Amino acid sequence: MARETVIWWARRDLRIRHNIALTKAAHGGARVVAVFIIDPPLVADAGEKRLAFMFDAVRSLSESTGGALVVREGDPAKEVAAVAREVGATRVVVQADASPYAKRRDEQVARSVRLEATGGPWVCGPDEVLKIDGTPYMMFTPYFRKWRQVAVGTIGEPGMVSSMTFADGPGNATIENKPTQAIPATFPANESEGRRRFDAFMTGNIANYGTNRDRMDLDGTSALSPYFRFGLLSVQRAALEAMSVGGPGAEAWLTQLAWRDFYFSVLAHFPRVAFENFRPEYDQVDWLDDTRLFDAWCQGRTGYPIVDAAMRQLSETGWMHNRARMIVASFLSKDLLVDWRWGERWFMRHLIDGDLAANNGGWQWTAGTGTDAAPYFRVFNPVSQGLRFDPYGDYVRRWVPELRGLAGPAVHEPWKHAQAMDYGERIVEHDLARMRAIDAFQSARSLAR
Ligand SMILES: Cc1cc2nc3c(=O)[nH]c(=O)nc-3n(C[C@H](O)[C@H](O)[C@H](O)COP(=O)(O)OP(=O)(O)OC[C@H]3O[C@@H](n4cnc5c(N)ncnc54)[C@H](O)[C@@H]3O)c2cc1C
Repeated sequence: MARETVIWWARRDLRIRHNIALTKAAHGGARVVAVFIIDPPLVADAGEKRLAFMFDAVRSLSESTGGALVVREGDPAKEVAAVAREVGATRVVVQADASPYAKRRDEQVARSVRLEATGGPWVCGPDEVLKIDGTPYMMFTPYFRKWRQVAVGTIGEPGMVSSMTFADGPGNATIENKPTQAIPATFPANESEGRRRFDAFMTGNIANYGTNRDRMDLDGTSALSPYFRFGLLSVQRAALEAMSVGGPGAEAWLTQLAWRDFYFSVLAHFPRVAFENFRPEYDQVDWLDDTRLFDAWCQGRTGYPIVDAAMRQLSETGWMHNRARMIVASFLSKDLLVDWRWGERWFMRHLIDGDLAANNGGWQWTAGTGTDAAPYFRVFNPVSQGLRFDPYGDYVRRWVPELRGLAGPAVHEPWKHAQAMDYGERIVEHDLARMRAIDAFQSARSLAR
């Protein structure tokens, strides 16, 4: 009997190892044709660093398939169906995705081919962690309690394939002319690098993750977010291994993976958050939306060293520490009273790990407009945050060369030191800006009553 031909359409799972969709496609000895579609609307939305990372990852996946990866460019609904016809495939297997765009796209593709979705870019999917009455959680703490139980039960041995032979597909659109990361890249985009970083983290920094994770001057976190974003590493497999390591560091790290799943769930169940405040009581906030202040924030020229260091790190590397993301998001949405959606867009253009669910969740949390968000009156103080989480000033000096003449924590208050003449003035005065923000949020709440 002739072997069945099955398409494995890789999207956010650009890896061979521990890949549930690929394992399913290969099940029963099927001939697997690996496919990647360059989807123009998604490409148009992504910034150059994330695109370069993605194309490097696709080139690397192509190598792993022995050059058999079929790359097409265009509307997935047409392209996937066309490849299926050309190779005589009976089914297309994909990793499930719950973003509003992905759901619409997959519904369209499924009109012309048999599409089987399995697994997901998460540890536990949006429909796996629900309240007893079947509704989604809106508070993280009870969500996490349930997540922890579900995760233990549902993580199996995710996709055991570690190597396999792929069937050659029909003529390939070249990916050689697509952008590549500047060399040397901070984040080499291949599966082996994801695994190498993960192994190093598991045997090193994870032990002290709970205590060091907020320190911007240390490499205390895994820096795996770009690898999870494009599935160069299985997040389920990573969770399974962290559970077996155990201890407070591993538990704290698992909590972060659960935040990631929580935001996937929020977006899947409340897709309106992509455009709107989760909490409508903040719809009437009278944003100032001053483009001059917004530009200063984007360029890392606010006169607040911790904000400027973080924004320059983002521009240079396409990545930023979580604590720094919270500080700059608070500074934009509260101190500058610029609509959080402007910052969300800027992050999406510049982050390699830019992901609608996590990014929107992080912005709405910080602005106070989200599900389980910081209270509206919480405004991060950029000086005390710097002193606390960059206590020796090393992070600021790394990214703000004008301040290298200042030793130790003095970098966080350059206005007190004559040596910092080359550094710009503060664009707002924090204490006044904080009061203005609280007033604006309070007024919006009163109008909504
Ligand atoms: C305003 C704002 C915007 C953000 N935008 C994104 C984004 O576009 N993409 C993104 O992946 N993360 C985003 N985050 C979450 C977080 O900042 C990054 O995931 C984290 O800094 C990545 O570093 P790491 O890999 O060293 O994380 P680790 O501390 O090692 O955590 C492990 C993994 O857990 C996930 N994770 C950690 N913290 C969070 C969190 N708070 N929310 C969701 N997932 C988390 C990431 O996948 C991360 O790789 C955002 C946070 C804020 C406050």
